[in-house]
Amino acid sequence: MGRAYTPPHSKLGLLLRCGALLAGVWLLLTLAARSGAWPGGSGGAAENEADDLASYGGWGFATLGSSGTRRQLQPHEMCSWETALESSMFDRVVDKEGWPTKFEQLVSESQPIAPVFCPVCGAAQQSIKFSGMNVREEGRCPRCSGFNRLRQIAEAALPEVWRMTGRNFRSLNELALSDLSIYHTQCSGVLHNMLSSAMGYVCSEFVSAELAPGTVVRGVRHEDLQRTSFADNTFDLVISSEMMSRVASPYQAHYEVKRILKPGGSHVFTVPFSPSDYHDDIRASVEEGRLVHHVEPPIYTGDSLHPKGVLLFTIFGKEMVDKVCMLGYNVTAHHLHHGAHGIIGNNAWVFITTKP
Ligand SMILES: [Zn+2]
Repeated sequence: MGRAYTPPHSKLGLLLRCGALLAGVWLLLTLAARSGAWPGGSGGAAENEADDLASYGGWGFATLGSSGTRRQLQPHEMCSWETALESSMFDRVVDKEGWPTKFEQLVSESQPIAPVFCPVCGAAQQSIKFSGMNVREEGRCPRCSGFNRLRQIAEAALPEVWRMTGRNFRSLNELALSDLSIYHTQCSGVLHNMLSSAMGYVCSEFVSAELAPGTVVRGVRHEDLQRTSFADNTFDLVISSEMMSRVASPYQAHYEVKRILKPGGSHVFTVPFSPSDYHDDIRASVEEGRLVHHVEPPIYTGDSLHPKGVLLFTIFGKEMVDKVCMLGYNVTAHHLHHGAHGIIGNNAWVFITTKP
């Protein structure tokens, strides 16, 4: 995005007129969002009547169907990218590449979007501000610090919990009241803070390749997602945020997650994803025990445990869905947009793999 135009200070009258115009536009937008006329708006009532999943989800779950369940594959259908998308929450009305995404970014650069319900912590009426540079990683909730991508995970995970338990939790924070066995692949950050009080919660970090999976170091459990120490059929819900891009063999890790999920359990995850590419962009791999960089320069992503960052092995394309289908999962790909929940931008993809 370009820099905001700064009028000369001497032209005070022009500045005031522009300010009044912007304030008017913003007022109209806010009213439109509240009334539901703007796609980000949910009409307000949806937030208060959470007993109906379809109304709770507002725009986000528009294609979930009246029962709130994901479409089951027919016997003649193979799980694939096409079927994953068909049964997704993809909002066909909103043009992710144009309006309202660009408009939202422009507005949110100068004004926070408000009011927003945060599906991570459950706070209502929050003002969330995006800088417009990378909206996927921005727009922190003033209460829990959860940002856009984490709200996307929550938005996709909560209907899964509803499917498993029949209970309609409004935020990840409320999952502390559930008896689900939940595995989160990080032991820090906002999602960890929200989930850690749940009775059946387990978290881990990749501490060091020297350690045996399951070793606890200074209170942190070490696990390698490609070969964990958990027993078969342990978890109802696995949540990972970008982790599958940080392991050398992501499909081995998906296979491993399937092993430790209970039948009917789901893995809800985000990864760096390019919907315009079919093939994965394998930037690095481990071959015969040696790390090989296929694309220079290597990309390192931020990590609380490893100050230098963690190597990004893969940016995924649509073949990811086909490949995890081949592992025997039911897969859905969710392209989310829900302004009233602080989920904006054209890169809001969350994937759910369910063990049959
Ligand atoms: Zn929050």
